[in-house]
Amino acid sequence: MTARMHLPDTFISLHAYVAPGPMQSPPPPTSSVIQQPFQTSPPPAMGQPQMPPGPQLPHMSPPQSPLASMQMSGPPMSGPPMSGPPMSGHPMSGPPMSGPPMSGHPMSGHPMSGQPMSGPLMSGQPMSGQPMSGQPMAGPPMSGPPMAGMGRPFPGPPPSGPGGFQQPGLGAAGPPGYPQQAGQFGGHMAGPQPGMPGAFPGAPGGLAGPPQKKLDPDSIPSIVTSWRLIHSSKTQVIEDDQVKRGGQVYSTNIRGQVPPLVTTDFTVQDQGNASPRFMRCTTYSLPSTADLAKQCQVPLAAIIKPFANLPKNETPLYVVNHGETGPIRCNRCKAYMCPYMQFIDGGRRYQCGFCNCVNEVPVFFFQHLDHMGRRADFYERPELSLGSYEFVATLDYCKNNKLPNPPAYIFMIDVSYNNIKSGLVKLICDELKTLLENLPSEEGTESSAINVGFVTYNKVLHFYNVKSALAQPQMMVVSDTAEMFVPLLDGFLVNYQESKAVIYNLLDQIPDMFAETNESETVFVPVIQAGVEAFKAAECSGKLFIFQSSMPTAEAPGKLKNRDDKKLVNTEKEKTLFQPQKGVYEQLSKECVAQGCCVDLFLFPSQYMDIATMADVPSHTGGSVYKYNNFQASTDVYHFLRDLRKDVQKSIGFDAIMRVRTSTGFRATEFFGAVHMNNTTDVEMAAVDCDKAMTVEFKHDDALSEETGALMQCALLYTTVNGQRRLRVHNLSLNCSSQLSELYKSCETDSLINFFAKSACRAILNQPLKNVREILVNQTAHMLACYRKNCASPSAASQLILPDAMKVFPVYMNSLMKTAPLVGSTELSTDDRAHQRLLLMGMGVEDTQLLLYPRLTPLVQDKPTHTMQSLFLPAPVRCSEERLTDSGMFLLENGHSMFLWLGQASPPELIQSIFNLPSLAHLQGHMCALPELDNPLSNKVRSFIDGLIEKRPNSMKLNIVRQKDKPEMLFRQFLVEDKGLHGGASYMDFLCYVHREIRQLLT
Ligand SMILES: [Zn+2]
Repeated sequence: MTARMHLPDTFISLHAYVAPGPMQSPPPPTSSVIQQPFQTSPPPAMGQPQMPPGPQLPHMSPPQSPLASMQMSGPPMSGPPMSGPPMSGHPMSGPPMSGPPMSGHPMSGHPMSGQPMSGPLMSGQPMSGQPMSGQPMAGPPMSGPPMAGMGRPFPGPPPSGPGGFQQPGLGAAGPPGYPQQAGQFGGHMAGPQPGMPGAFPGAPGGLAGPPQKKLDPDSIPSIVTSWRLIHSSKTQVIEDDQVKRGGQVYSTNIRGQVPPLVTTDFTVQDQGNASPRFMRCTTYSLPSTADLAKQCQVPLAAIIKPFANLPKNETPLYVVNHGETGPIRCNRCKAYMCPYMQFIDGGRRYQCGFCNCVNEVPVFFFQHLDHMGRRADFYERPELSLGSYEFVATLDYCKNNKLPNPPAYIFMIDVSYNNIKSGLVKLICDELKTLLENLPSEEGTESSAINVGFVTYNKVLHFYNVKSALAQPQMMVVSDTAEMFVPLLDGFLVNYQESKAVIYNLLDQIPDMFAETNESETVFVPVIQAGVEAFKAAECSGKLFIFQSSMPTAEAPGKLKNRDDKKLVNTEKEKTLFQPQKGVYEQLSKECVAQGCCVDLFLFPSQYMDIATMADVPSHTGGSVYKYNNFQASTDVYHFLRDLRKDVQKSIGFDAIMRVRTSTGFRATEFFGAVHMNNTTDVEMAAVDCDKAMTVEFKHDDALSEETGALMQCALLYTTVNGQRRLRVHNLSLNCSSQLSELYKSCETDSLINFFAKSACRAILNQPLKNVREILVNQTAHMLACYRKNCASPSAASQLILPDAMKVFPVYMNSLMKTAPLVGSTELSTDDRAHQRLLLMGMGVEDTQLLLYPRLTPLVQDKPTHTMQSLFLPAPVRCSEERLTDSGMFLLENGHSMFLWLGQASPPELIQSIFNLPSLAHLQGHMCALPELDNPLSNKVRSFIDGLIEKRPNSMKLNIVRQKDKPEMLFRQFLVEDKGLHGGASYMDFLCYVHREIRQLLT
């Protein structure tokens, strides 16, 4: 399936970026339909009939490229040499295969379908004989937790799904190599190759050159509105998927199956592969060789959200407890028991699906095989039949061979002048009283095991003894911030329920104690150090909640000064604005990770705070950073408190270490996320919560077998909120193919853009933004040109041809280049840009999708009561000014900002129903919530908004804007299909530009 469209042939030179003025009038709507085909010079390609002007018919492309005769005139293969260790033969050490032949394995979708494994080479580094590096396997077995079997009764066999794994047919290798560009993501991050055709000139602000012909906006692929010309109807990509796969059960029993879109509502049934909520891939069919991967430049990556929240109708993970023995693992590669292990020799041995090693089955785990070769207990053991499950870890997996203590939360409140004056300190103290009643706890336990502690600070730190035996809390002051220590052990970290009375007393007193303060300076690094020291003393992991409103300027380690400099924007030195200060901050991150101390920051700046540096520790410890510019208790209180509640209550694991293992032929090489890497394979996180995702990139070591596919296993060792050490395992199997068409067919645009967003956000730390944007554009053009050359049928050069699975990829890519970190505009605050960069690094696929293509929902389009009275939620529309109507009301949200937009001709009855005001003119600014009015429209709109806020990881402040009012500008920057307010092309211009790049690559 291929999407194609005509684009202007006469292009459009994108000149150097000129930042438009903030109040620049919007571009005129481009609404007229294409009258002429944009075909000028090139004749139709071989054998292809001349396309008539106007709509093109759907086109099915044959898998083999008829363009093989096309010779590339570009530079010869100039890409970087393949990295990775030399493939020196690592002999297969296992005994020769014996036992029953492996053919006819009954497990539906089992990767090992009877073929010998592809080769004796082992991927990756030599595996150590340790559970996780850094934690030596202990000698004698310890008396671990009692053998308790599985946590939950395990259901019987799931309904058998359709067929086995899809086996892509073997085919001829693709046409000769496509010229490789030097700069790319998912390869070596190098600058764009000099002499590359048409480098993208910065964020293109203005257009010049020949007058542009107008295109029908509906004729270009859109996230919400698919291409009318292809589908002959104005369907929608998101809606298409929702209609086709929404409301359905998605069974994970098929290898290489592309899951529904993140925007689609579906229920997952785990049948041997991890749910897409936990793992998503950029493509579900890996190219079989490194050469093919290089040729197409499609990044090979998985986005892993190990603690993703599951909807109520999906089964939580089963917990397997093998008691003192611990989890069963392959002797050679240390992969955990999973559905990819093949039992042989009557069930006495198993062959590892990752490294092919043949292992003995431990006596306690032995089970006979049935006549199909499957273990009789297949459906009774999660580790044999499911994609995701947990093991209870033994002492071998614990620090210092000691079972962990339950984690602790420390609340650290900046009580300097600003925070007292704004009422923030009182707000936090009041809120904590209710919040602490709802600390997270393990399913099935009555109260939370998490201990709590309290610190206030300005230039000095105040620790509080809140031991339950005390009548009054006791304060201890530490003013020597150079050598931070915790002045009390007993009574600092306590059980909330036991110490409730003392804690209440303390929370009541804090705002009064500092009511008269004049202290405006604060420290920061000593605050985090105090937290780490407290966890060290208590031998536990945990999280710090730090509430701070200014840059730490007091004399102490980590003191910062203002280094904001807008003059650096769009220069070689712009990257320094994103780079954190090193030294004490870098060291602190390491200490935090080593102790399992996660840091969450709530910032309330009224000016520059150097967020690049202040957020450095959170971004290496799995923490979150929330920012409330110019905090006003009257308007920001709900927004902030909702964030705080979610943050305290979210599901989370502590002191985590993650390893991604792969089957022979490829391996994980790069990791992006709020993580710390001490070596090249182990991802360390002081904590990981339900919203954090790591993006993992893969590289070939060797050819992959189409027969066996590609397997990956993500194992995450962590401490639960109750203090139990566990291993969470997610398994996923992908296809491999020598056909590029298979790869393009199995691509997932939402995952691809997540990878590019994170790669770009990392790259801007070390490279000029201009280079990074050029690489993004070049690689987009390259991926699409490779598709056109190798997978699409011949067609006129004036047609832009996109793979069906990447139809809307360009709109995301264009939007990515317009995000605050990447746009290079002096209009944006340095802190906002740094903040968004850090947010992006930890995001999962749902979050990047929504951030890069905000949801614009017409609550009322024309007739006030018409739209919202239907039972269904209104469908989102394209993110463009053209979709707004003068008498309409629209809601826009991207997971971080939310706007209610009102057309200037909004009928009075609409305003009355929603705001209880006679007309739009009566609406005052600074309204941050809708009044609760008892009429159907008001109820519907409010519940719609509340529902959205509830669903997102972060809370959002509601901004109400009127058409043509000044604040409307803030809203317009989120209309991502239009020209960027701070620079950046419109979607249409970007498509034209990419199209021209593709044509240059192909000729
Ligand atoms: Zn193995």
